[in-house]
Amino acid sequence: MSADTPKAVVTRFAPSPTGYLHIGGARTALFNWLYARGRGGKFLLRIEDTDRARSTPEATKAILQGMAWLGLDHDGDVISQFEGAKRHAEVAHELLAAGKAYKCFSTQDEIQAFRDAAKAEGKSTLFHSPWRDVDAADHPDAPYVVRIKAPQTGNTIIKDEVQGDVTIRNDQLDDMVLLRSDGTPVYMLAVVVDDHDMEVSHVIRGDDHLNNAARQMMIYNAMGWDVPVWAHIPLIFGNDGKKLSKRHGATGAEEYQVMGYPAAGMRNYLTRLGWSHGDDEFFTDAQAREWFDLGGIGKSPARFDFKKLENLCGQHIAQADSAALQQEIIAYLAVSGAQPLTQKQADGLFKAMPCLQERAKKFPDLIEKATFVLSSRPIVPDEKSSKNLDKVSRGILNELTPHLQNASWGRENLEAVLNGYCETKDIKFGKLAGPMRAALAGRSATPSVFDMMLVLGQDESLARLTEAAAPADAS
Ligand code: GLU
Repeated sequence: MSADTPKAVVTRFAPSPTGYLHIGGARTALFNWLYARGRGGKFLLRIEDTDRARSTPEATKAILQGMAWLGLDHDGDVISQFEGAKRHAEVAHELLAAGKAYKCFSTQDEIQAFRDAAKAEGKSTLFHSPWRDVDAADHPDAPYVVRIKAPQTGNTIIKDEVQGDVTIRNDQLDDMVLLRSDGTPVYMLAVVVDDHDMEVSHVIRGDDHLNNAARQMMIYNAMGWDVPVWAHIPLIFGNDGKKLSKRHGATGAEEYQVMGYPAAGMRNYLTRLGWSHGDDEFFTDAQAREWFDLGGIGKSPARFDFKKLENLCGQHIAQADSAALQQEIIAYLAVSGAQPLTQKQADGLFKAMPCLQERAKKFPDLIEKATFVLSSRPIVPDEKSSKNLDKVSRGILNELTPHLQNASWGRENLEAVLNGYCETKDIKFGKLAGPMRAALAGRSATPSVFDMMLVLGQDESLARLTEAAAPADAS
């Protein structure tokens, strides 16, 4: 490949499996996914499980589930960083052989003594190993760590696509340990070796890793490897301008799934959280893939705003495909621990979908509106709607029903019948609609009575109206 041939885009998400998928991590994954998918590149998943004490298989499972929910599919196998330990150590040995790293025999006590003395003299406590330039012939037969030879003068410049050029004075970098005295590689080495071996072209991650980038660059430079494009993104804040935490509400991706937010709305909101494309708020996945770039990422932390999230989710529900939405709701019911739908209910939900989609911000809203189609006779009105089935209202329903018996079951005609009835009786439409909602759904927040009648069909609608007009226990 010639120097000016652009490299294929390869991004990765590299979570540490120590808890759940934090919403900030989900956004990092999403940015990497969008960047790769919009450029015909690859999006890889590496589980950073080198910290054996803190990594758990449950956490890995939660990460995979969260990503699956958000539709963030990765290319190839899930890579375990821990499994690459041998390769990571190999690179440290290569650096050792090339004289770019050295064996350091200083004990913890000696390091501490060095620091104490430096502190007493008011100097930097950065450890300078006395072994950096000692000839191998003079090495003792004692435990050692392998340290990289950090540059001692000049600056390290991180060219960051979000933060701009970040300059770090090299005299502030120490000879970082690459291999511990038991021969195991450190995390920082593992990240660089993996990113290199996985041919990662762009590292998009939280700006809490910006300091690591300077240390990681030492390894890239010592190995003569190309440095990836860096993009360190600001963390997500709560509405009070402080780092997002449990105090602000849910922080785990799966909590949003259980609350019933649609994945498309969540993707849209998380994409907008810290990235912009002009004034666009609502966009489709295809638009996000096409538009997403590193230049649109803001430098200051974005604030999580539930109102905006709900607003976007509502728009996504409104424009979603009925069949896809039905499937997503079935999946939502499963994760939220609700009763699964029967086939009849699932079919009814699908049929009713167009009249449920409007104004629902999340799935519980939509399901509440779907009560009419999910329930079967006898319809038991809830407390609020039972007030609409008093004697007068039942009388109205009684009178109305015969008009519907022979009516042709189309919207225009039903409108004509109901409006005609109200005119003749000189009553407002609400006087009729309230009892009808109670009869058809047992609820007061429902789709329009016309929508419900059309979805339920003539026989079922009439049966419900008749039953409500003359309940078995009516006095
Ligand atoms: N494992 C790190 C984390 O979960 C990410 C490291 C990286 O992206 O380089 O914060």
